[in-house]
Amino acid sequence: VNAIRDAWSQTAAASRLAVDLPRFFRNPIDPDRCADLVRQKLRVRDERFLAVARKTIFTNARSPYSRLLRSAGCEWGDLARMVRSDGLDEAMHTLARRGVYVTSAELKGRRSIRRGSLQFSPRPGDFENPLIRPHMYFPTSGSTGSSRLLGRTLAERSEYALINVLGLRAHGVTNPVVVSWRLAPLTILDYGAVGWRTVGWFNPVSHTTPAVRAWQLLFVTLARMGGVRVPLLRSMPLAQPDRMLDWLVPRLAEHSEIVVLGYCSTIVRTALAATDRGLALHGVCFQPVGEPYTRERHAAIVATGARSIPQFGAMEHGSMSAGCAHPRSADDVHIATYRVAVIRRGPDLHGDDAGALAITTIDPTTPTVMFNTDLGDDADVVTRDCGCLMGHTGLTQHVLNIRPFERLTSEGVTFEGADIVAILERDLPAHCGGGPTDYQLAEEQSVDGRPRLVLRVHPRLGAPDVERIRTRFLNVIGAAGLANRHASHVLREAGTVEVVSQAPIATVVGKIPPFVPLAAVRARED
Ligand SMILES: [Zn+2]
Repeated sequence: VNAIRDAWSQTAAASRLAVDLPRFFRNPIDPDRCADLVRQKLRVRDERFLAVARKTIFTNARSPYSRLLRSAGCEWGDLARMVRSDGLDEAMHTLARRGVYVTSAELKGRRSIRRGSLQFSPRPGDFENPLIRPHMYFPTSGSTGSSRLLGRTLAERSEYALINVLGLRAHGVTNPVVVSWRLAPLTILDYGAVGWRTVGWFNPVSHTTPAVRAWQLLFVTLARMGGVRVPLLRSMPLAQPDRMLDWLVPRLAEHSEIVVLGYCSTIVRTALAATDRGLALHGVCFQPVGEPYTRERHAAIVATGARSIPQFGAMEHGSMSAGCAHPRSADDVHIATYRVAVIRRGPDLHGDDAGALAITTIDPTTPTVMFNTDLGDDADVVTRDCGCLMGHTGLTQHVLNIRPFERLTSEGVTFEGADIVAILERDLPAHCGGGPTDYQLAEEQSVDGRPRLVLRVHPRLGAPDVERIRTRFLNVIGAAGLANRHASHVLREAGTVEVVSQAPIATVVGKIPPFVPLAAVRARED
């Protein structure tokens, strides 16, 4: 039944795309108008939020948020009064303290929601935005068991394009051509929304399915009907950054500004390869996405002479930020406050976290409705006058020092803590010997910023069969849905996973965590 429903949804989406995509490309937003459009949306921010909350939560019987809000004694009229008297951000703080929030584990259905006497288990689909009629579906980047298809619309790309353009202009990039180094054509749409042309569309892994190839052909054909030549998707393996450089460097003679969007570690590898070959990349502006952005990674990229603008976001919501032009940390980003409200809430009632970045939907085109919902990240939230173009436009809220507290991300692939635990504590011992705590996965970074996933195997098991353990690990990651297969290909081709014979490392309080994200490693070093 699910397969039939999915097939029907995809067919309906494709027919909407056939009508709307040519029109989308024929009617771009003038990039010079983006600042004004953001200011207009900021002026009606609170009322726009209330209208969206009414339609997606209070009149939506499936919404988990409506149960949380009503359990906290908050009907739509109460919410409207709070927002109008205290402002949206303050209202969200108040509601979080009253238990109206959703953690990433609850959002993904790994934990039931418990607040006092209220207890229920929403399905991930219950968080979907009932207002959108998707043009396309893409899998979330989650690993085993957590992947699902999210519907996306062209209208969402137009909303997102505004901060994207302001971010680039704040960094002095005015009228670039675009290179998309990821499978989903979201980048092509984000820039196509303002009439900027894509000159390269590359898949970071060599593997594609016939369904993906058929869909991208449809996409390219529809774009041409809209008068825009989108190049066909080509393979550009992330493990061979020299191939990208061989393609990119000659283009710099034709185009003075080239934006290249890709996963952070892919871009870092490319930058390191350029430095090794003595190539300068002036005129390139990299947009690293999907992974923690550290100062080592930033330094490796800008050493080539290229610019680098990080983003913070997630598949559930899309990007909601752009890197500040006068940053206080490598990952200092402006929040697109016309699309989302972001607060740092206090600790989860069940002690799962010490606080989290809680995100609330304002934009009606967002695929997942969020209401004080976190994506497993903590960060510092500050409002300051940085003096860059985004700040001048009224986007004065910054998020920085972003630290995922229960996920591990590498090569654009996100692993959920619970999934890693299942593989390390159950699957690997069953197939490769040993027991719980014999395996540990650590995200590490070599001194030059290159990402590594180190799979430690306890020496008590003897000399590890390195190839067998690595293959098993990648196969389990690749066993479920499309995103996971893609993920395992990415990791396999990047050679990111290293198996070593070494005792799992304990924390200062003596816990041996099954996985150690980069942020935790860095915190220990600092
Ligand atoms: Zn700024």
